[in-house]
Amino acid sequence: MVLAPNTTSLDVLVREIETIATEQLKSGGVVLTTSFSKEDQILTWAVMEGGADVEVVSLDTGYLFPATRQTWEATQLHFGREIRALRPNEAEVVSLDGLDRIYQSTEGRKQCCSVRKIQPLRAALAGKGAWLTGLRRAHSPNRAAMERRERDAAWGILKFHPLLEWDDQMLDSAVASTGVPVNPLHSMGYPSIGCAPCTRPVLPHEDPRAGRWWWESSSKECGLHRG
Ligand code: SF4
Repeated sequence: MVLAPNTTSLDVLVREIETIATEQLKSGGVVLTTSFSKEDQILTWAVMEGGADVEVVSLDTGYLFPATRQTWEATQLHFGREIRALRPNEAEVVSLDGLDRIYQSTEGRKQCCSVRKIQPLRAALAGKGAWLTGLRRAHSPNRAAMERRERDAAWGILKFHPLLEWDDQMLDSAVASTGVPVNPLHSMGYPSIGCAPCTRPVLPHEDPRAGRWWWESSSKECGLHRG
């Protein structure tokens, strides 16, 4: 059930993002990385609503679902603003020699994530002051100990997670009241959506991230957020 719109939460979110953007102006500015998840759509809405000086980018790994590409286009149309694509280095992609190795070992899979996600993102974050993310504690036990504002030593950047404490009802309420585009895969059993070769739908009783790299027993992160 979707609750009545929680305008207070949304107002607080818009103001929080404006404050972060203003604080970080002198340190290189803020980047929001969106995968067009519901969380990222709400953060994008809050950036646009408040006119915050935040760059919105998305990783184009080459293996996005067609539905995700359609959501990307719908989002740009909805907000009237381009969302910059971060693409991998072509020579590095060729060196991966296809997708077979991602299923053969975690090392092979992480090598693909490194080329298609980590390296393009590292270039986009270079010189920036802060990174805005849509992480929530509810996503994964790995994220239970995260703080809303933290310094990520691996990336050498300040990270902000304004939705960290949001529950599913708050999120669905915000999506309904803002009218942001929603990836249709969410209603087809995909609570968490990544690259097509590495994402499957989950059953109602399964962990929301069980469909990500489902053939691996423990690692459910791609290296963007270690938790
Ligand atoms: S999620 Fe899968 S296809 Fe996408 S970059 Fe990582 S290993 Fe490669």
